[in-house]
Amino acid sequence: MSDCDQFRELIEAYALGALDASERAAFEAHLATGCGNCAKAVAEARGLVAQLAYLAPGAAPSDMLKGRLVRAVRAEAQTPPRQAPQKSQIPFWMWAGVAVLLVFSVYSIWNSRQLQSEIRELEHRTAELLQQQKELHEQLALEERKSMILTDPASASIPMPGTVPDAPMLEAKWNEKFGLCVMGHKVPMPAKNHVLQLWLIPRKEGAKPMPSMTFWPDADGKLVLVVSNPPEPMDQTKQLAITEEPEGGSAEPTTSPRWVGGVS
Ligand SMILES: [Zn+2]
Repeated sequence: MSDCDQFRELIEAYALGALDASERAAFEAHLATGCGNCAKAVAEARGLVAQLAYLAPGAAPSDMLKGRLVRAVRAEAQTPPRQAPQKSQIPFWMWAGVAVLLVFSVYSIWNSRQLQSEIRELEHRTAELLQQQKELHEQLALEERKSMILTDPASASIPMPGTVPDAPMLEAKWNEKFGLCVMGHKVPMPAKNHVLQLWLIPRKEGAKPMPSMTFWPDADGKLVLVVSNPPEPMDQTKQLAITEEPEGGSAEPTTSPRWVGGVS
């Protein structure tokens, strides 16, 4: 191992004036032998030190250099005050190094905060997109089921006339395999905080109406309700009925039906 290797990592600190006395003496003795490599390295390091204050954080000093700077500044701070004000023993280029360390640390903290908030934003956006995708899938699956119910010749048609004047005629289609679909136009919106609810009235004597889904028509009064899993099979159901119920739906009908249709 040549002498140069042992001094290699001291050169930056030497240029900053941050070597302790014995290290500096040893290195200067080596320089005095006329080592061109080290002289060149020192010149480069001084050039770097001169530029440090202007450099971007990419020029982060090594940990070793940081440690030396901190020790040197601490030692200076512990020096007892002298009688007459004296020039600081810390060379100005060391202050430049300290300034760069500060700038670098502040930039690092700012940068990592910035990054964290960008990551959070990205995570939020991803969750939103996943949710949208899920909703689209569900909508698509429902659309698909609806068209199966409507186009399968095995589906039973169930007309559902209104029980009050001006109530539009609704139509239900029921398919053993794909489920039940109720459709209508110009369906009036239920009262505030109320919903429409579908009921299946069992054929069995004395059996209670089976509650099914709650729903609203859209703003234009268009109604498309798809029930994938009706609570009763078709052959055990006598009638479909729709009542108006408080929001959230009811376990038993609380009003008389607006629409009723017989399942044949
Ligand atoms: Zn050398």
